[in-house]
This record gives sequence, structure tokens and C-alpha cells, in this order.
Amino acid sequence: MEKILNYINGEWLSPKNGKFQPNKNPATGLSYSEVPDSDADDAELAISAATAAFPSWSKTSVRERSELMRKLAELIKENADSLSRDESTDNGKPHKLASEVDIPRSELNFRFFADLAVSLHGEAYRSDANTMSFTEHAPLGPVVCISPWNLPLYLLTWKIAPALAAGCTVVAKPSEITPMTAYRLSQLAAQAGFPKGVLNFVHGRGSLLGEKLSTDPRIKAISFTGSTQTGRTIATLAAPLFKKLALEMGGKNPVVIFKDAEYDKMLSTVVRSSFSNQGQICLCGSRIFVERPLYEKFKKDFIARVGALNVGDPFNMQSDLGAVVSEDHMGKILSYIKKARDEGGVILTGGEQLKVGGGYFVQPTVIENLDYNSCVNQDEIFGPVVTITPFDSEEQVTAMANSTRYGLAASVWTTNLNRAQRIARQIDSGIVWVNTWMNRDLRTPFGGVKESGYGREGGIEALKFFSEVKTICIETSPEQDKL
Ligand code: NAD
Repeated sequence: MEKILNYINGEWLSPKNGKFQPNKNPATGLSYSEVPDSDADDAELAISAATAAFPSWSKTSVRERSELMRKLAELIKENADSLSRDESTDNGKPHKLASEVDIPRSELNFRFFADLAVSLHGEAYRSDANTMSFTEHAPLGPVVCISPWNLPLYLLTWKIAPALAAGCTVVAKPSEITPMTAYRLSQLAAQAGFPKGVLNFVHGRGSLLGEKLSTDPRIKAISFTGSTQTGRTIATLAAPLFKKLALEMGGKNPVVIFKDAEYDKMLSTVVRSSFSNQGQICLCGSRIFVERPLYEKFKKDFIARVGALNVGDPFNMQSDLGAVVSEDHMGKILSYIKKARDEGGVILTGGEQLKVGGGYFVQPTVIENLDYNSCVNQDEIFGPVVTITPFDSEEQVTAMANSTRYGLAASVWTTNLNRAQRIARQIDSGIVWVNTWMNRDLRTPFGGVKESGYGREGGIEALKFFSEVKTICIETSPEQDKL
């Protein structure tokens, strides 16, 4: 059985404690590889390596760093087929999705920040004839990048790429539930020729690694994506040490559909925004609000489309949904479906586990008749479960949309642009899509409000996050020429 290894200071290492955990294929429920159960000793090695590599890496030119990143992007492209197979096996997601979205985007993350790195520039201000101030962005230092299991390589590279581009060295901590493509990335990074210690990978559980990674004084910033609960734990440890933090956390995203929406496009997009990746995308819309005159028609058509989705073997190209990521996560999803029933919800389609071999499959589920304040409408389920609710006015739907502790993303469907702008401004979330979903220009800032996020990723914001800006003020005087 393949053993995944840590990659520290240019070497592949077993964890110092010698312990590994089984790594399961969610579509079969069987272990197919082993992941290091690393602890603080391994984090110490990785932080020391990143610290030692920082002085020379931070002095490399933007061009040198960009060239290495482009090489890595090229290697991802060359290995896209095996990477997408690995991603699908490790995560349970349809192979089609991994090969069309996850892996191409991982490649693009490196290309995008390799190009953008040259755009990070300072500003100059002439205050008077003798005084000029200018700013410089200096790489921050060794940083930690912690990522979740839902888009394993996509989200890990979205952090690593800007950190490297800005001149930081990295300790990457991928999810222990989906470590395989991060391991492959460490092999490709070595092949691309990154100097030792610049990019290190420590695999294992957050409960054993988190405290060391969050508190070591040599680490200058933590870029985290995962649950709000873990984000809070990291912030509690790291904020008193004045580390820079970017926390991308949970969501419970509203989808607001007005009766004048462009119907066919809306319907097919809302099926996707509900169930892509088994509903395990932080941007999936899980609370669907429909203007009352359209409600019954939407309900009938939506149920028909959702009921026709194929759930099963991720490697079957006909599968629209694969397996959810783990047995524990499936248990959580099913417990929320039970809560929905207990709270008086009506299951319109789905609602059950699908027994396919020993894998973790859940039917795409649509629920109605739940109060917007019910726990199913307030808690993040992060699975193939959505609710539909009618509304009568803009004020009412805005209040319902804003009623959760989250504020990551929202979609609004209307052909009335006045209304679209009004609602977009009123909804509390980091991004509002109008008549589209998951349409991301990588130059735009990305992040949530309320308990969904702290700080911004994306575009130049990410490069700024991994930099420290310094102001240098020079005063000249004609007298100096005489000295
Ligand atoms: P999680 O918080 O359990 O784990 C995320 C990462 O944090 C993993 O690598 C994990 O090992 C690590 N971790 C766990 N405990 C830690 C600790 N005490 N200290 C440091 N690191 C620790 O989240 P998950 O279950 O892997 O991912 C699902 C969550 O991620 C959902 O809430 C989802 O909304 C969120 N998410 C958010 C975004 C976003 O952009 N806002 C994107 C994707 C996923």
C-alpha cells in the first residue's frame, strides 16, 4: 500500500513518531494508502527548513520565482490525467469534475500568480521639493498554508502560489482526509527544481499539528481554509502573537430567484450550484428562496431535474455526483436530513443514503416547509442537501438571506438590473453573483464576511497578504552636494 510521506527540506520523510493513518477511498470505503500522522516534531522540522530557506528565496528575483512556478504549472498539466484520477480516488468526486475543474485550476493558480507577481508595485509620493516617500513590498517570511478536503489541490495551490510568488517560504498542511494530490505536488515541485526548504509539506491531523503551526514565532502568517470552528481555534492561538491571518471559512449561501429570472439558464445553474461536488463546495447555494408566483413551477421542474441526477462510481462518466468524503461526513449529512424531518420538513426528493458497495453515497436531497430559522437552514451541512422556501417581497427575502452567521457567497436571479444591484448591496456576503454562479475572475478579491471569513485572498490581495509594506522617506538638501 502506498505510503504518503512528508516533504521537508527537499527530502521525503516518514513522521518522526513512525505513525501512519489509513487513507480511504470514499467510493469504496476501503483504505488504499497511508498518510503520516505527523506531530509537532515534524512541524518543527518543516518550520526550521522554511526559515533557513527564506533569506535566499526572498532575495530571488520575481522573474526567477515566476519561472519556477511556470515549470510547476507545466508539470501539473503534463500529469493532469493521473492527478485527476488521484483526486477523484482520494475525495470521491466525479473524475469528470476533477479533470475539468480541480486540476486545470491548480495549474492555472501557479500560472496566474507567476504572471501577477510582476504587478506588485510600490507607490511614490513627492511631498515637497526635497522630500520623497516610496513604498516597498517585502516578502513576509516563512508562512503556513492550511487547506481542507473539498477541493484538495485547487485550494492548496491557491494559497501556495501567491506565497511563493511574493517570496515567502511555505509550510503546507493539506487535509489529512485528502492528502494524495498534495503528495504528488511535492514530487512535482522537486522535479521543477524549487530549492530545498522553500516548499515543505507536513501531513497529518490538525489536532496534532495545529498548535505548533499556529504559534511558532518564526511563522509570520497563516492562510487557512476550512471550517469556522477550526478558523476560530487558529485565530485564538495566533492573533495574540500578531501573526497575519487570512481565514476562509464556512458558508450557508442563499440563492434568491425572482419570477423574472431567465428560467432555463437559472434552473440548470441552480442544479449545479446545489449539487456540484456533492454540495461540498463552500460556494454551493444551499438555501433557495423563490418568489411565490414562480414557486410551484420551479419546485416541480427542480425536483424533476434533481431526481434525474446520477449518483455513483466517480469514474463512471455518467455520474453527476460521486461519494461524499468520509463515513463521518456522511453521518453528519444524514443526521441533518433526520433533523429536517423532525422539524416538519418535507423531503421532496432524495433523503437517503445510497448503498453502492461500501462507499459513502447520499442522494441529492431537496427539502421544503422549513422555517428559515430552523437549524437545517442555519447550520452549514456541506453536502447534497438544499431547502426551498417561497418569498413575497425583497425586504422579506433579504432578511431571510442575511439571517445566518455566515456570509460567503450569494446568487441572485433576476433580469431587472435595478433590483439586482439593490439586492446585491443588501446581502451580507463577500461575493454576490447575479444570473451566474462560481464565475470567478482570479483578479478579484475573494473572502467572506461575518463568520465566513477574515481577510481576502485572490488577485493582488493575496500577494499583499504575503508581503509587508514598508515606507521609506528620503529628504534631500542642496547642502548635501557640497559635502
Ligand atoms: P476543517 O476545519 O476540519 O479542516 C481544514 C484544515 O484545517 C485541515 O487541513 C485540518 O487538518 C486543519 N485543522 C484541523 N484542526 C486544526 C487546528 N486545530 N489547527 C490547525 N489546523 C487544523 O475543515 P474541513 O472539514 O477540512 O473542510 C470543510 C470546511 O471548509 C467547510 O466548513 C467549508 O465551508 C470550508 N471551506 C471554506 C472555503 C472558503 O473559501 N471559505 C473553501 C472550502 C471549504
